[in-house]
This record gives sequence, structure tokens and C-alpha cells, in this order.
Amino acid sequence: FGRKRNFNEIHHVPNGNISNGYGRDDMRKKILQHRKSLPIASVERRLVEEVQNNDMLIIVGETGSGKTTQLPQFLLNGGFCRNGKLIGITQPRRVAAVTVAKRVAEECGCELGQKVGYSIRFDDVTSSFTRIKYMTDGLLLREALLDPYLSKYSVIIVDEAHERTIHTDVLLGLLKNIQNARSRSVKESKLENLMLNSEMALEKEKGIQQSLSFLSRCEGVKYPPLKLIIMSASLDARGFSEYFGSARAVHVQGRQFPVDAFYTEQPQQDYLDAAIVTIFQIHLQEGPGDILVFLTGQEEIESVEGLVKQWLLQLPEARRKLVTVPIFSSLPSEQQMKVFTPAPSGFRKVILATNIAETSVTIPGIHYVVDPGMVKARSFNSVTGIESLVIVPTSKAQALQRSGRAGREGPGNCFRLYMESEFEKLADSTVPEIKRCNLSNVILQLKALGVDDVIGFDFMERPSRMAIVKSLEELFLLGALTDEYKLSDPEGIKWPSCPWNLYILKLFSLQMLIAVAMLSVESIFFTPREKADQAKRAMECFSSLDGDHLTLINVYRASCEFLQKSNMESTSSKLKSKKKMRKWCKQNFINSRSLKHALDIHSQIRRHVEQMGLHIASCGDDMLQFRRCLAASFFLRSALKQPNGTYRALSNGQVVQIHPSSVLHGKNPECIIFNELVRTNKSFIRNITRIDPLWLPELAPQYYAAQSYDFELY
Ligand code: ADP
Ligand code: MG
Repeated sequence: FGRKRNFNEIHHVPNGNISNGYGRDDMRKKILQHRKSLPIASVERRLVEEVQNNDMLIIVGETGSGKTTQLPQFLLNGGFCRNGKLIGITQPRRVAAVTVAKRVAEECGCELGQKVGYSIRFDDVTSSFTRIKYMTDGLLLREALLDPYLSKYSVIIVDEAHERTIHTDVLLGLLKNIQNARSRSVKESKLENLMLNSEMALEKEKGIQQSLSFLSRCEGVKYPPLKLIIMSASLDARGFSEYFGSARAVHVQGRQFPVDAFYTEQPQQDYLDAAIVTIFQIHLQEGPGDILVFLTGQEEIESVEGLVKQWLLQLPEARRKLVTVPIFSSLPSEQQMKVFTPAPSGFRKVILATNIAETSVTIPGIHYVVDPGMVKARSFNSVTGIESLVIVPTSKAQALQRSGRAGREGPGNCFRLYMESEFEKLADSTVPEIKRCNLSNVILQLKALGVDDVIGFDFMERPSRMAIVKSLEELFLLGALTDEYKLSDPEGIKWPSCPWNLYILKLFSLQMLIAVAMLSVESIFFTPREKADQAKRAMECFSSLDGDHLTLINVYRASCEFLQKSNMESTSSKLKSKKKMRKWCKQNFINSRSLKHALDIHSQIRRHVEQMGLHIASCGDDMLQFRRCLAASFFLRSALKQPNGTYRALSNGQVVQIHPSSVLHGKNPECIIFNELVRTNKSFIRNITRIDPLWLPELAPQYYAAQSYDFELY
């Protein structure tokens, strides 16, 4: 390893001894056996006792030890739901919430949504029978808006806390408050009763009897103490423990086999290319076992998936026994479970995953990890106030987590696609997200929860004052906060089951809802590297001179028309029309997975908005109106062309360029608004629409009039 082999060379390497190693007999017995064999199984009783004795507990344990799937079942059996309350488990990612819930339902032998369920944005699979509820951390935050004491839960488990996503951090602060409030409510009612009791003592035993029953009623009706459990895969629990007043931390022993790490001898120009070569080297030269490849996002995953399939065709028939399975957050949930299905007999499975497979989802059967060492992260510049997505090197902790995935069932190998000297330069751990993202949503959420003093909020790690101030300013400019920094619309904000960017809250035209849905998925257009020209031509059929938002709307319309037509043409089965749709997508270089997901999201948002009784107008064909809507919402992300063809963001003067994937690339309109800033070696903007610069002072006078922008300046 280390030397790049070309394809011909790989071609002649003898095949390894590949077998899949899975049987399928007697699922239930196997599941039981599997559960018993997990490291956590031997400490079930002790863990239940720990939770009984401590309202606040931190559990750390290596990934795969059984924390996420087993602990909730232990607690259910331990009687923590006896009073009809729920055990809630939060996950930073939707995929984890869904796949784990499905697995646990299977382990419990119940239907999903009965005893075990999950709830994520737009998809609530729970019922009145549900006792174990997996959910995203964002969703629990939303529940707290409607139920400030989270009264229906007896236990809340914050899982994957080491990831320190922004929602986890906010949730930790909030849960700390709720836990205090709930135990206070119990203490107060006890105190009340003691006083009552002494008065009533005068009325002898009768009184005592009464007060005792009152006490128990109070404890039942008022909020019983909340059990809080923080689970983390990072072995260092100090931070969490300190934050929760020296809370007790316990360690669950994992089972980890040694993993050999390999590095490249030379730096790799193109890590995707290197990943593909490595996959084939493993496939053709190494022993059995599945391969897990860490990529940064859907686009990369799909590009690698396409290339692997192509390369395979060039191998002799007998050596093509390789199947690829993608897993990433926006993958529709029915497809997510496929990563757990063993490859067909004699085949090797290659899982192409984002960092979702780092700790939150444990996939059995992996013996090889391919790690390019990159991750997509949010990054916020508190001076300019602009957040961007960047692909950055992982931390050492992440690299170790990733390689650990190869050693779950036996000794494994991890191929890092960078040099050993680079590893040494990596940061030890990842900076919590709250320190590197825009805080507008957090501030709105906290304000809606009644936390007015955001700067004074008890964060585990405080974001910089500057970042908070910048976001407050932005919210004020957007009209979401009053000049006293109070919520402008305290009721409206309570429906943040609205997932998207808060800016959209301003407008509800049919077209805006479509645009929002199409932008909520990662990429509608599919641009395989080897067919870039063809893909570009296909995209031109939909492209609008006004920009990407309208182009996406054109795709939406065309797909709806196609669906309608094919439904009318034939009464053929659902399966057939699905197939037809996929073919249509393929011909048009559209990502059928993303499109389907976007269509689902659209119908759900629409239903939601209608349920709220909001009127949805259509701009019809008046695209001018639509563009003005966009300008009114995204005025903080506007940019003006400069003589040299680059753009300058009006809010802060930052120089940006139109991303090559935009339909406006090379068209260079005078003035634009954009949705997304992506930094690679340059600052690129994506999802762009052409606007008239004069609209800005008209539609956002609070910003542009005050600053009296002199447009000629640029
Ligand atoms: P932890 O939370 O400690 O990382 P988990 O509870 O997620 O561990 O996983 C425990 C075990 O359950 C792992 O061995 C994993 O392979 C297995 N597992 C989890 N989900 C599934 C699934 N959907 N199908 C098969 N096995 C699964
Ligand atoms: Mg877990």
C-alpha cells in the first residue's frame, strides 16, 4: 500500500478468498445471542442500579459496546416507564435515530412505532404505546417548546454527546435547567406538604394520612425527577462531569481487536481517486471482510459509487463480486437499512459513508476501513457573520474512531489516504460546532424557550460574544427580533418544526416552498466526473437565466409533468412507474434519490403550512415576484459584480466566486443573492439568483437604507 497502482496492474492480481460469512437461519435466536454477547450485557444490573441511584449519569464506552441499542431496553425492563412515562434517546443524526429504532424494535420483537419508535422531522413513528423513543436532538428541542418540563419523559439519554453538535450543546444546557426545575418542583411540593403536615398534625393521624397521600399525589402529578444520562464514545468524560456538578461517570468496557494502520508513502493529489484504487486493491488482494469508506457527502459518495461500478465492469466476470451500499443523512429511510443487509453469498460489500458511520451507526462485518481523512464541517466567521461549509481534515480522535470500525469482530486494517507525518499534524479533537456556526437558530430557539439572556446562558462551552452579537444583529435585521431583542412573533416561532432556514419564514408562495424543498437535499443534479459535459448539457434543458432557484423549480415542474403523464399513459404497477421515473432521472442527469426526497419534503412542508392555516399564494408565471421574494429573504447574502468578474458580498465586502455548478457560472449578472458559501481553496457561492440591485434598499430598507450603500463604490 502506498504505491498507486494503475488499473491494468490490479487486473492481474489473483483473487483473494472471498466469502460473505453470514447465515440467515433463525433470526430471533441469533438476535438474542447477539444481545447476550455484547460487552454491555454483563453489566445490565449494575447500570440499572446506577441510574436508580443517580439522577445524572455519564456513560462512556467504546463504539459498538451496545450503549445505544441496549441501555434503553435495560431501563425499560428495570421499571423506568412504570408510570407511563417514556425513555427518550437523542441522536445527532436522523439516520441513526431511524436505523437504531428499527433494530431495537426487531430485538424487542415488536412492530416499529409500538413499544419502540422514533421521531424525526417530518416522520413520527410513535404511538401511545411507545415507551422507548429514539429521536434527533433537534426534535427534542422542539418538543421542549411545547412542553417546557418535557413532562412525558422519565429518562432522557443524550447519545453521541462527544460529537458536540450545536443541538447537543443547547440541549445539555436546557436539560440541566429542566432537571433542576423538576427536582425543585418535587422538593417544593414536599416542603408545602411538611408545612401542611404540621398544621394538620393538630388533627392527629387523619391529617397525617391525608398529607401522605397528598405528598404522593404531588410527586405523581407534579413532575417527577428527570433522569438524565449522557452517553459518549470519547473516553474523556471530565468535561461533561464538571459541567453537571461533578456528576458520576461510569465506563463500559468495549471489545476491540487490534487494527493495523497504513499510510500512503506520498501525498495523494485526489483522495477520491486514491479511495477507488484502494478499494480495488483490497478487493483483489486481501482476505474476506467488508470495506467501509469515509467520504464527506452525498456528491462524493455517488461519484465514487458510479466509478466503482464502472471499474468493476472491466474485471473478469468472476472477480466482479463487489457490491456498493451508500449511507448518508439525506438518504431516504427505506434505503438506509440496506447497509445492514449482508452482501449476497460470495460477494464483498463496500459501504460508502459520511462520518455517520464513525460512531453513531455500527455496521457488522467490516474488516477494512478506507479513510481519506476529510470531513465536511460548518465554519462561521464571527467578523463577517457568514457561515460556510468547508471540507477539512479530521481530528486525531476522529481518525482513531474511524479506524476502530475495522476491529469490531476481529483484527482489521485501516488505510489512511495521507502520509503518517500528516497524521501527527492533526488536531487532537474537533472543535464543538457551537463555536463554529451561525447562532441565529439557537438564539431564536432559546428565546422561544424563555431564555432571554443568551449571552448569560449556561453553555457547556460558551460561543464567543462576538458570534452571539453578530447573530443577534442578523436576527434584528431580518425582523425576527424587535429592537429590544425580543421575539417579534413569539407564537409563530413555536412551529419550528419548520426545518429550513428561518429566513424563509417570511414568505409562503408555492414557488418558495418548492425551492425550500429542493434546497433541503444535497444535490438534485448528478454530475459524474467522467460525463461532466453530457451532464452539463442535460442541465441546460432546465436552466433558467434567472438562476439556480428557478432552475430547480423547472426540474420540479418537469418531474411532476412526467409523473402525471406516465400515470395517465399506463395503469401499470407502482413498481413500473418508479422504474420509469428513475430512467427519466438518469437520462436527465438528475439524482433520483434526491429528487424523491425533495418531493416528499415538499408535500410535507405544504401540508404543514396548510395545517397552520396559512394561505399559500402562487406566483404563477410571474417569476419577477418570486425573485423579489428571494431578495427580500436573502438580502444579507447579496453580492455585486466587480470589474474583474468576481463578486463582493454587500454585507461585509468579502470576495466570492460563482461555483461552477451554478447555471449562472460564466453568465456574470450584475447583482445576485446566494444561499450557500462553500470554501475550498477559494470562496464559492452556490444556489444563486439574479436580482436587481435597486430592490435591496426597497425590500430591506432596515439594512440598506441605514447603511446608505453606494453601489458605484464596488
Ligand atoms: P454503541 O452505541 O455502544 O456504539 P450499538 O448499541 O449501536 O453500540 O450497537 C451494538 C451492536 O448492535 C453492534 O454490534 C452493531 O453491529 C449491532 N447493530 C446495531 N444496529 C444494527 C442493525 N440495524 N442491524 C444489525 N446489527 C446492528
Ligand atoms: Mg451508539
